[in-house]
Amino acid sequence: MLSSTTRAFGSPLRYVQGPGEFSRLPQYTAPYGKACVLIDGFLYPELNARLEKAYDGGEFTSIKFQGECCDEEIGRIGAIAREQNGCVFVGVGGGKTLDTAKLCADAMNMPLIIVPSSASTDAPVSEIAVIYTPDGEYIGSRKVKKNADLVLVDSEIIAKSPRRLFIAGMGDALATWLEAQAVDGSDSPNYIGAGYRRSKAGMAIARASWDILFADGLNALAALELGVVTEALENVIEANTLLSGLGFLNTGLATAHGIHSGLTALPETHKYLHGEKVAFGIVCQLVLENSDASVVDKVMNFMAAIGLPMTLADLGVEATPEKITAIAEKTANGPLVHQEPFLVNSERVYAAILAADALGKKYKAKAATNK
Ligand SMILES: [Zn+2]
Repeated sequence: MLSSTTRAFGSPLRYVQGPGEFSRLPQYTAPYGKACVLIDGFLYPELNARLEKAYDGGEFTSIKFQGECCDEEIGRIGAIAREQNGCVFVGVGGGKTLDTAKLCADAMNMPLIIVPSSASTDAPVSEIAVIYTPDGEYIGSRKVKKNADLVLVDSEIIAKSPRRLFIAGMGDALATWLEAQAVDGSDSPNYIGAGYRRSKAGMAIARASWDILFADGLNALAALELGVVTEALENVIEANTLLSGLGFLNTGLATAHGIHSGLTALPETHKYLHGEKVAFGIVCQLVLENSDASVVDKVMNFMAAIGLPMTLADLGVEATPEKITAIAEKTANGPLVHQEPFLVNSERVYAAILAADALGKKYKAKAATNK
């Protein structure tokens, strides 16, 4: 529980989302001067060609990301940016590219523009980056001094991104309001600076991401499958990216993300996406909190309809006592599950995981017979 009643709210300076916005990048970088653009390796050929057209002879430097967010890569990119006299740093791509961009801009005290290539997590709007060794071993997360100057989302790029990434983003966003309510109940700190009490704005934003998912989630997924931008898709891109991001930063996290961290104790879960592990964490949180049947029904039916993981088997985990104990202990040893408004220990987490797995199976069976 917090020892102060001071409340705080934080966010990127600006957020812009719409079709074709990537091609307007020169307009956004012009006020700062020469841009250094770090681009995801997989997307480099296509997006670099688009940038060359967009800058139309104007000066910019593009840097191909080598694939790992580590100190060595940050050093390599920083040397290029300095040599090129870059004035604004732009990161284009997935989580690791964007985290590397955050750390590079921070190290060089440069303005930062973040351009996500999918709506798979809410990380683009946070000032937190996850760092690894050059071999991809997790080291920890680092907070940079300030949030991005601009988060620029091209909804046409998102509309053509892989379906699995978009669904995972909805899993991450679906947790936001549930966790915000838990944090509100226990009066735990948010992620602004050293951690403050949440503002009314933070709570309202967390709630908005929830409402949008249920109103537009299925239609947004249908649009993404066709590769087209509709109003429903725009709404869910905003929910997954801006609302979920501002929601979690400004309110805090609880069991759903705590279980996510607990699941990482098992190597077989490493190939699953952040939002996929959070999704099973949501089921565990519903059980742990003994949520109202109407809420459970609403969440579980939605998860089954969009195909989010709801059981241990969905994450490649065999439901043995040893494996569940490993997840429960890592979860209970972490801080997030203790942001619930009641006592939580590893025994209660163990029970919640087992019951959540059964609940997930039940709803999956129900969804299969309704098809
Ligand atoms: Zn998350």
